[in-house]
Amino acid sequence: MSLIVQKYGGTSMGSVDRIKNVARRVAKWHAAGHQVIVVPSAMSGETNRLLTLANDITSDPDPREQDMLAATGEQASSALLAMALIAEGVPARSFTGWQVPVRTDSSYTKARIAEIDGDSIRAELDAGRVVVVTGYQGIDEHGYITTLGRGGSDTSAVAMAAALGADECLIFTDVDGVYTTDPRVVPQARRMRVTSFEEMLELASLGSKILQIRAVEFAGKFRVPLRVLSSLTDPLIPIEEETESGTLITFEEDSQMEAAVVSGIAFSRDETKFSLLGVPDTPGVAYSILGPVAAANIDVDMILQNQSVDGTTDFSFTVLHDDYERTHEILKTQVGPAVGAKQVIADSKVCKVSIVGIGMRSHVGVASLMFRTLAKEGINIQMISTSEIKTSVVIEDKYMELAVRALHKAFELDQDKYIPDDA
Ligand code: ADP
Ligand code: ASP
Ligand code: MG
Repeated sequence: MSLIVQKYGGTSMGSVDRIKNVARRVAKWHAAGHQVIVVPSAMSGETNRLLTLANDITSDPDPREQDMLAATGEQASSALLAMALIAEGVPARSFTGWQVPVRTDSSYTKARIAEIDGDSIRAELDAGRVVVVTGYQGIDEHGYITTLGRGGSDTSAVAMAAALGADECLIFTDVDGVYTTDPRVVPQARRMRVTSFEEMLELASLGSKILQIRAVEFAGKFRVPLRVLSSLTDPLIPIEEETESGTLITFEEDSQMEAAVVSGIAFSRDETKFSLLGVPDTPGVAYSILGPVAAANIDVDMILQNQSVDGTTDFSFTVLHDDYERTHEILKTQVGPAVGAKQVIADSKVCKVSIVGIGMRSHVGVASLMFRTLAKEGINIQMISTSEIKTSVVIEDKYMELAVRALHKAFELDQDKYIPDDA
């Protein structure tokens, strides 16, 4: 008997028929003698619907109230799933984040899980029930409902698996695994049978929305065995087949991974670039610009400072779209005048495209192939950042899909470079 956490995303829970299919799949695992905790997302579109309602009321909804509202999507889907399980003859109970409780900090709309008390869940499992726990939400020290940021049900599931020492966490979604890039953008993208935790962490942090970054961080910290697989297959496929499908996120070095230098491409439209032009170049200028931004709790992603010409320099950096207004305000009213910038420019028509692969550690010329490929397509690179296992560029957003497709081809990600299972 194993303890398995299964997470089902919005599309997987998207209709009454899909919820019934989830119940059949879970019933199969329960009948095979496994203890199962299910973490569902809200039905697809529901969280967007709720957040749109909030924005129709006011352009600046109170964050505590926004969480109060957004968390209802998962409460509804969890209750529906528990009903479907009971109708299948499986004893089941659903619980909200605050009933468990899943304790978080008070950063409403993007709270972090601090601790999960697994006692009540364990008692339910030991009584032979399937336990359904709402994704995406928790409770803070004041007893208020919090949510974990968009895509946060992934993190709920992995955190639950870590807290209860689950044998495996299965992330069921609308694709059959982690691909070399988003298959919606590049139809030739290939599923990875296995990927390293490090690569998954980079892909998630660079914008690939297949897994929320915090879910991958949790999996790494607590060594939670994680598999991404499809919820759209026949729910009654044999369990042995199911546990071999999808993509395994592994902590081990795998001989199959060495074959690929670049193993995936991520992209994000979620960036805005700010530039301060003609800034007198004195020691401490970077701090004078970024200090107030950091003090406002705004995360800066890429940074570029030009060499000074005639004693002045241009300074650019990127932040997430959500922080656009606040950053612009700080630069216009405080930072720009304080550092003597001639001009402050905001550009939200940019995107970030990144190539990722642990093989980049031991291979040279990877970044230059990336730059050559983009040059051949006539795409101008505005900013570059590199680490041991990734290279990212900021480019004009209208070229994003072209860039991703060209890079996918240039790095031969559409070809089978992996050693077959039976080699
Ligand atoms: P869920 O609702 O199940 O959490 P998401 O929409 O959050 O599903 O994530 C699944 C989607 O992620 C896929 O439909 C796919 O378009 C997208 N995606 C982005 N990058 C990748 C990738 N590298 N591999 C697979 N899917 C990806
Ligand atoms: N329902 C939430 C969202 O749409 C959480 C999730 O689906 O993971 O972001
Ligand atoms: Mg998701």
